[in-house]
Amino acid sequence: MGKINLNQFEQLKRKFYILIFPVIIFSSAFSYIFFLDPTKTYDPILLPVLIIAYSAGWILLILNRGFNFVEIMNLILIGVFHILKFQEVVVERIVQNQELSIGAAPFWTPLLFIFIFIILMDVKAFVYSLIIWIFNFSLFFIYWSDLPIGIREQALHYNLSIFVYIIFLYFFRKIIHNNAQNELLTELAFKDELTGVANRRQIYEWLHLSYKNKEKPVSVIMLDIDFFKKVNDIHGHLIGDKVLIELTKLIENELSDQSYLGRWGGEEFIILSYQTKDQAKKLAETIQGQVESYSFIDDHPITISLGVEEMQQDDTVDSLVNRADKLLYHAKESGRNRVCSDLQDLIYS
Ligand code: GH3
Ligand code: MG
Ligand code: MG
Repeated sequence: MGKINLNQFEQLKRKFYILIFPVIIFSSAFSYIFFLDPTKTYDPILLPVLIIAYSAGWILLILNRGFNFVEIMNLILIGVFHILKFQEVVVERIVQNQELSIGAAPFWTPLLFIFIFIILMDVKAFVYSLIIWIFNFSLFFIYWSDLPIGIREQALHYNLSIFVYIIFLYFFRKIIHNNAQNELLTELAFKDELTGVANRRQIYEWLHLSYKNKEKPVSVIMLDIDFFKKVNDIHGHLIGDKVLIELTKLIENELSDQSYLGRWGGEEFIILSYQTKDQAKKLAETIQGQVESYSFIDDHPITISLGVEEMQQDDTVDSLVNRADKLLYHAKESGRNRVCSDLQDLIYS
C-alpha cells in the first residue's frame, strides 16, 4: 500500500538539486569570468558567494550529508541574491546607466520560485514568493518614471508573469497533492489491505453498477476456504495470511477481463463475473481444481467451497448475494471442496 514516505521525497529532491546546482555554479562562474562589471555593487561579491556556497552544497549532497542545511542555505541564498540583484539591475543598470535591458537574471527567476515551492510547503512557499515578488514589483514601481520607455513593457511583463508563475505554482502543487491524496484514499477505501484485491465496499459498488445495467449477464461466485481455522491453529496466523495472499494470486491468474475478485471478509471471497451462470460455474470448477492441486503449505492440503448464482430480472444486489451465500453453505454442508450452483443438485447428491 502507498505509504507516505518523507525520506523518499527528500531523496528525490536531493537528486534534483544534484542536477541543478552545477548549472547554477556554471552560470555564475561564466558571468564572473567573462562578464563581470567591477563598477556594480553586488555582482563582484554575490557571484563568488554563490559559486562557493553551491559548490559546498553540491559536495554535501553528493556525500548525502546536511540535506536540511543545504535546503535552507539554498532558500536564503536565492531570496537574498534575487532581491539584491534586482536592486542592482533596476537602480544601477537601468535608472543610472539608462540601459535598455533588464539583463540575464530574469531568465532564472522562474527557477527561483520552483525551488521555493519544492523546499517549502504550501502557504509558506506562497508567502515567501510573494514577499520577493512585492520587493521586485515595488522597485519597478518606485522608479517607474525614471525607467526608459523601452524598458517599461519588459518590466511590466516581467512582474506580471512572475505573479502568474507564483499563483500557478501554488495551485499546481495543490492539485498534485490532492490527486496523490485522492489516490491514497481510494486505495484505502476500496482495497483490501492484506491481499490487495477489492474489498467489500468496492464489490458492493461494482454489484450496484451491474444491477443498474442489466444488459449483460451478471454472475457471482462466493467462495470460502475449508477448515481455515485449522490452518491458523496448526501453522499460526502469519502462515494463514500467506495462504490468503497466495490464494488471491492463484484465483486472479484464472480470471478473464470479465471477472473481478474481491475479499468479502475473513477467508471468504467473491468473484463478480459478467458471464452466464454456466460459464461462471465452469470458472468456479477450474478455480476449485487449481486450489486443490496447489501446494500452499507442505503436507496440508487446502480446498475451497464455492456457490455460483446469476442475477435475475427481479433480483436486488442483496438477494443475489444471499442466494450465492446459501449455495456456498450447501457446498459446505454436502462435503466441502466443491461447487454448488443449484440447491436441487445437492439435495439429491
Ligand atoms: P469452514 O470450512 O466451515 O469454512 O471452516 P473454517 O474453519 O474455515 O471456518 P471458520 O469460520 O470457523 O473460521 C474462519 C477462520 O478464518 C477463523 C479466522 O481466524 C480466520 N481468519 C479470518 N480472517 C483472517 C485473516 O485475515 N488472517 C488469518 N490468518 N486468518 C483469518
Ligand atoms: Mg472457511
Ligand atoms: Mg468463513
